[in-house]
Amino acid sequence: MKKNNTKKVFSSANFFFICIMFMFFFSYYYNEWQRNRAINNNFANIIFFIMTIAICAYFPIRFPLFIKTENEKIDESYYDDIYYKKLGFWSQLYLGFFYWTKCNDSISLFSKKILCLGIKNRECKFTYNNSEVKKIYRIFDFILTVISSIVVFFLAQEFSKMGIVYGLTLSVFSLLFAFRNIILNHIFSVKIGNEEEYNLSIMYPYCIFDGIMSRKYGFAYYGDNNILLQKDVFCGGEILKKYIIAHEKGHLKTSNRTKNLLLLFTIIFATISFFTSVGFMVQIGVKRTELIILPLIMYAVFLYVYLTLLRKKSEKDEFLADVYAIKNIGKEAVLKGLEVIKKDTLYKNYEVKLSGIEIDRRIKFVKEYKG
Ligand SMILES: [Zn+2]
Repeated sequence: MKKNNTKKVFSSANFFFICIMFMFFFSYYYNEWQRNRAINNNFANIIFFIMTIAICAYFPIRFPLFIKTENEKIDESYYDDIYYKKLGFWSQLYLGFFYWTKCNDSISLFSKKILCLGIKNRECKFTYNNSEVKKIYRIFDFILTVISSIVVFFLAQEFSKMGIVYGLTLSVFSLLFAFRNIILNHIFSVKIGNEEEYNLSIMYPYCIFDGIMSRKYGFAYYGDNNILLQKDVFCGGEILKKYIIAHEKGHLKTSNRTKNLLLLFTIIFATISFFTSVGFMVQIGVKRTELIILPLIMYAVFLYVYLTLLRKKSEKDEFLADVYAIKNIGKEAVLKGLEVIKKDTLYKNYEVKLSGIEIDRRIKFVKEYKG
């Protein structure tokens, strides 16, 4: 076996993140401090100071300046099929901001991270490495760091005024955060082929709580007609794979795309309206707390109704997808697939629900279905 070459390298990508985060908090804190001093609120200043120190102390852990790299190679002669995916600038930027479960291991935002998948029968092997970092990439990182730091410095000043900039920045961040799992699944999956007119991709087990994540066996993405499978589903035998693919295909076949798009725009619109209206009211000097709380209450009510409707819709969609699967691969195959899931140790240990529905309810539904 080849020995892995481990070495420590300087990460100019993390230098970028540390600089802009620090710049943001420094500028924001300075403004708050000035404001509190003007109204003689020393207590707020102390609280704010402690918070800022705590957040800044977290940066070096989240963004280490020196990264241990281990270039794990896949033995190309051993696997039948090998697939690659390159994660570029935007993916790495997103991971830096929103993938918090691990310290950020990007070396340069302009070099690529390479996701590689080797498949042989029921064996799936993933590697996740940094590609070669050229000197020019480092220069780009530094230029980007300087420009972004200046932008962030002014942005943070605007941010502390709690105006439109504050509203928009918070909206964008909270939306990117809300759709985190969908985006991360996208980033961490490798396309291996097609399933009829759909793309078929396998997901790299990126979550540290691997088991907890894997209660989701597959995903169907309408945007790019993609069926994503967990690595363990793809390599976990034909019965499970066949059922999950048929079920996810059912989601794509039976979904109403206009309705889904409308739902997406509604939440985006409501979120932006909420954050900007709070910011707007503060900025025009609305002092009465009730008036500022009003958008908050409206948004909370909206979220409650929206999420309730979404849960109902997704439950209906699940059964529709199973009906499609029954018509596609037959009742027996669907039941066998569900039984495999039921026997999964995860289900026994945690009694988790499969897309919000207990496994027994699904089995009962399929058994009683007469099409
Ligand atoms: Zn489903």
